[in-house]
Amino acid sequence: MKWLITGGAGFVGSHLADLLVAKGESIVAIDDLSTGSTENIAHLRASKQFRFIPDDVTNTFLLRELVDEADVIVHLAAAVGVRLVVEEPVRTITTNVGATELVLKTAAKKGKRVFIASTSEVYGKGVRVPFNEEDDVVYGPSTKARWSYAASKLIDEFLGLSYWKERGLPVVVGRLFNTVGPRQTGRYGMVIPRFVRQALANEPITVYGDGTQSRCFAHVADVVGAIHSLCVAKETVGRVFNIGGTEEVTIVDLARKIREATRSKSELCFVPYEKAYEEGFEDIVRRVPDLSRIHAAIGYSPSRPLEEIIRDVVAHERAVASGSAPLAAVG
Ligand code: UDP
Repeated sequence: MKWLITGGAGFVGSHLADLLVAKGESIVAIDDLSTGSTENIAHLRASKQFRFIPDDVTNTFLLRELVDEADVIVHLAAAVGVRLVVEEPVRTITTNVGATELVLKTAAKKGKRVFIASTSEVYGKGVRVPFNEEDDVVYGPSTKARWSYAASKLIDEFLGLSYWKERGLPVVVGRLFNTVGPRQTGRYGMVIPRFVRQALANEPITVYGDGTQSRCFAHVADVVGAIHSLCVAKETVGRVFNIGGTEEVTIVDLARKIREATRSKSELCFVPYEKAYEEGFEDIVRRVPDLSRIHAAIGYSPSRPLEEIIRDVVAHERAVASGSAPLAAVG
């Protein structure tokens, strides 16, 4: 099969490309390199199955050509990371809504299958855990930039599902929960690469708030396996699926685990949210996915524990620090 990955030089996109190459598939990756990096795909450039195009998905003519050639489009290109969202809400909204609209419109002309990457952010500040795909969503006011990310991704979901309902376009939506692994940059706020870098440098580990907020992290290798299965299974079309991990951990415990795994001398440093992000920032207290739907549909259960996630990120960050980053496939 021929796959088009938008955001193919990003963290998740590059791991998906690794998986597809290993499966003997043919891949075209498009990425404007705004948050992705050619380093993520450097090891793939020699592969005849892989082609990289450094361009923007909103290049309409190019996109039409690429969609024509593809059997499946995995749309990952998006503005992600809470820090980026808070600092650049215009870019977040326009990138997330505009690019998805164009991808769906172009795919609809040829009836191509599309995977839309959404996010657990769409659950907003709902407090009923675990988060189920049919749950109501609760957001803060539009004066708080954080919620623009959730709203923009929810629009992407509505649009994708509407293309399915109205035009029969085979669309599947995956809501990614805290996905982690080698190559993820801490630049946009993601907690594990940040903590690992701080720990390796014996610098203070910056725990935001009181650290009692919790997350379930998923290894990127598990996540891209789920994306692949959702794209090839027939009965997933027109539906929304959570993709994530099951091991809930508080952020302060995560900091301690990372300090231990790196044998670091770092202190834990508690940073108030308004200093870390912006005045009035609201964090999600518990973020736990209900994985029963995806398990029933494709048999997905995450297989890599938090310990392994931390170990892989530490190995990657050590290699980056020593200038020998092994960017090859994991898992
Ligand atoms: N976080 C933290 N220190 C950091 C970066 C993040 O304590 O240096 C916290 C953040 O406030 C959140 C959790 O770690 O509660 C996960 O943050 P991340 O940005 O990775 O993902 P989110 O779940 O917020 O999308």
